[in-house]
Amino acid sequence: MKAFNYQRADSVTLAAAATARSGAKIIAGGTNLLDLMKLQVETPSSLVDINRLPLDKIEETPDGGLRIGALVRNSDLAADPRVRQRYGVLSRALLAGASAQLRNKATTGGNLLQRTRCYYFYDVTKPCNKRNPGSGCAALAGFNRIHAILGASEHCIATQPSDMAVAMRALDAKVETVNPAGDTRFIPIAEFHRLPGTTPEIETSLKPGEIITAVTLPLPPPGVQVYRKVRDRASYAFALVSVAAIVDSTRGRIRSARLAFGGLAPKPWRSPQAEQRLANASADKATFDAAATAVLEGARGFGGNDFKIPLTRRTLHSVLAEITRA
Ligand code: SF4
Repeated sequence: MKAFNYQRADSVTLAAAATARSGAKIIAGGTNLLDLMKLQVETPSSLVDINRLPLDKIEETPDGGLRIGALVRNSDLAADPRVRQRYGVLSRALLAGASAQLRNKATTGGNLLQRTRCYYFYDVTKPCNKRNPGSGCAALAGFNRIHAILGASEHCIATQPSDMAVAMRALDAKVETVNPAGDTRFIPIAEFHRLPGTTPEIETSLKPGEIITAVTLPLPPPGVQVYRKVRDRASYAFALVSVAAIVDSTRGRIRSARLAFGGLAPKPWRSPQAEQRLANASADKATFDAAATAVLEGARGFGGNDFKIPLTRRTLHSVLAEITRA
């Protein structure tokens, strides 16, 4: 690990100003950043510790939603009775992630900002456009079992690994930020993570010096909430495919549905076309197949991850059948 300066932030705007400086990084739980520093994938010149900022509350909002402070730990968020009762998909997604020890440290803001688990990103001897722009992408012709089938580019096929963000995408969360001037911005989670295009090193829509202070959840939509995660082992593994589903149905008919997917793309993936196929439709195999076909429009495998295409279809079918009892 390379030497770095360390400072504790005692206000949000000072933390934002400190991180606007070149080479500075925020540290909260540190569950991803410290690993990256040990491997010298990240080599910050200074760390700005925000753990003492008052950002660890979960509060009701006037419109009936919740405001989740950026420093709320994943374990606390998953266990909060309001989250468990009203946002079960979020609680289950959190508990599907990492290990109990990591969830005790990991924060809401840090979870959104965690980096990809692409093997080549963590190996500084290999070309990687995300780590070293312009160097190439070792995963394209390499071992790409965990990589993206949707939203990728020839410059990067990495996936965003968060389970929490997938549930938040289904819930239409907003990411609240503050800049060094103290201005607040609300970023719809759909716009928070970026597709790689020609600049895979830019992963979010955060501007320099802008830090996450909270995530707000609107009132949940009606319906049954499910989070299903398919992975190589039963715990402490990232998703090959995950589905966050919120489906309102009765007696074999679906009124409305929201679907978000993890493990498939560089960002939590929604398919409005698939949701339209499900709305006001019979809960049967033909409808589920049509929805899966819509989700997978434009999907492309790179050899090692080809299996994700049929796996996504089967997983979605299983989740929809479970919810609608079809
Ligand atoms: Fe790097 Fe992205 Fe290629 Fe992985 S997929 S090696 S993160 S450029």
